[in-house]
Amino acid sequence: MASSCPHCKERSLHPSRIEADLPALSCDGCGGSLLSLVAYRHWRENQPEPANGNGDDGSLDEIKDTSIALCCPKCQHFMTKFRVSADARNQIDLCVHCDEAWLDRGEWQLLDRLALAGKLTLVFTQPWQNRVRSTEAERRAEQRWNERLGDDYVRAQEIREWLRSTPQAREILAYVNQVRDDIPL
Ligand SMILES: [Zn+2]
Ligand SMILES: [Zn+2]
Repeated sequence: MASSCPHCKERSLHPSRIEADLPALSCDGCGGSLLSLVAYRHWRENQPEPANGNGDDGSLDEIKDTSIALCCPKCQHFMTKFRVSADARNQIDLCVHCDEAWLDRGEWQLLDRLALAGKLTLVFTQPWQNRVRSTEAERRAEQRWNERLGDDYVRAQEIREWLRSTPQAREILAYVNQVRDDIPL
């Protein structure tokens, strides 16, 4: 029996290929694909080089992402969403029972652009998800400093980077810190 598209529901998935030697099940309605991680690992092992993207990270937002919870077409359990990277809002759905991933239209190409096509299984690990979250938290903190410091932000960044790279950073900070006493509250 053919599986139904978890997104369009009434449409059936049909055999397709994400890459010449990577089979999947795809939906003609929404363009999404169900990718078996077993097939993916097999494909990955037969790649001569790590599949790297072309480094073009432009227009990441143009790929529409499913934000609703999806049910696995094979077992009907809810699929779990995994953030791909801090650079893209996209999430990939995975059925942890069946090891089947759902890629919305264009998401495989997105992975390729982010040089993640060869690292798909890494995306589904806790360390990867933690890193995406901490990168985002750092960016939000930077954004707040940017708003707070205004025109001086770029200068402050330069000084910070310079301090990070200089062996005498502690001494320099102690020296500079003397101006605290001169600054009106
Ligand atoms: Zn569909
Ligand atoms: Zn399943």
